[in-house]
Amino acid sequence: MTTLATLSDQASMIDPFGRHVTYLRVSVTDRCDFRCVYCMSEHMTFLPKKDLLTLEELDRTCSAFVRKGVRKLRITGGEPLVRKNVMWLFKALGRHLEEGTLDELTLTTNGSLLHRMSGDLYAFGVRRINVSLDTLSPTKFKEITRWGDLENVLNGITAAERAGLKIKINAVALKGVNDQEIDELIRFAHGRGADLTLIETMPMGDIEGDRTDQYLPLSQVRADLMERWTLKDIPYNSGGPARYYEISETGGRLGFITPLTHNFCESCNRVRLTCTGTLYMCLGQDDAADLRSALRASDDDRALNSAIDEAIGRKPKGHDFVIDRRSQAPAVSRHMSVTGG
Ligand code: SAM
Ligand code: SF4
Repeated sequence: MTTLATLSDQASMIDPFGRHVTYLRVSVTDRCDFRCVYCMSEHMTFLPKKDLLTLEELDRTCSAFVRKGVRKLRITGGEPLVRKNVMWLFKALGRHLEEGTLDELTLTTNGSLLHRMSGDLYAFGVRRINVSLDTLSPTKFKEITRWGDLENVLNGITAAERAGLKIKINAVALKGVNDQEIDELIRFAHGRGADLTLIETMPMGDIEGDRTDQYLPLSQVRADLMERWTLKDIPYNSGGPARYYEISETGGRLGFITPLTHNFCESCNRVRLTCTGTLYMCLGQDDAADLRSALRASDDDRALNSAIDEAIGRKPKGHDFVIDRRSQAPAVSRHMSVTGG
């Protein structure tokens, strides 16, 4: 018999602008073993552990989204691999891949623990991962990440490749920091068959520095690259907001994520869950829904399903990020490590 609960269970998620929500990004922790200058302040206060969803609750929530039509799950953070026992969650979510109800389980990581965890990730169904790497200079890497070690990350990338994981490198473009190094990052990524995606800094959360100093418009980077490389516009779409080019000289792909200079909201198919069970319907807006209370209200998923439906019904049309010298305050007050980028 079809009950009301199962109907709401299976209703696919279409927002008020007709966009199908098929992609859920899940931050499993706000903690990290790095302190990247554009992401965190050096002295972050992290959430008390009791506020976090348990791994079982994360599984329950993700599974509710999968039943509602989510086909892609990205696990992120903070640094997702520092969450205790996180492999339990990958294993649990991997069952949806086996059942054919999920197309992709993936993660975004700083790479620091890949040398230990790549084998398990592959075993639980992960096939592609994003690794954040802004520089290939050990000194600059220390300056950017404050606590990270480049060699460890490079070893992690090698271990991941050996385990069979396909890598995409993400680099945040930072004026005066890595802008002279993009060629080298292209050679590094494409030399190992990985795509490279460049990201503009986004005004999220208070950090110690001044973001207008670091902000580097990717339109400028692209114009500069075109003096040395042949960038061919290609229709490739990885399911995200990146616009891709193929570099004729390397045969590899280069993506640009430009939230500030280009609006990609019309095709947005995603929502974001924080480690405390707050659902953000847009990365650039503060409106959010509390799924944790719904989750804890009862053991069946009825309240959770209604809370999800209600939230999707409020997904906004788009963001309005601005970085300029008049508005020094971040556009949204939460850090990227809360919503997971
Ligand atoms: N710790 C993992 C990592 O670094 O890949 C996952 C979480 S991190 C918040 C996800 C991505 O967001 C990283 O590629 C990072 O470089 C990027 N990021 C963090 N803060 C950002 C900001 N203010 N603007 C643009 N990208 C940012
Ligand atoms: Fe940690 Fe990733 Fe933020 Fe860097 S960008 S501090 S690695 S969460």
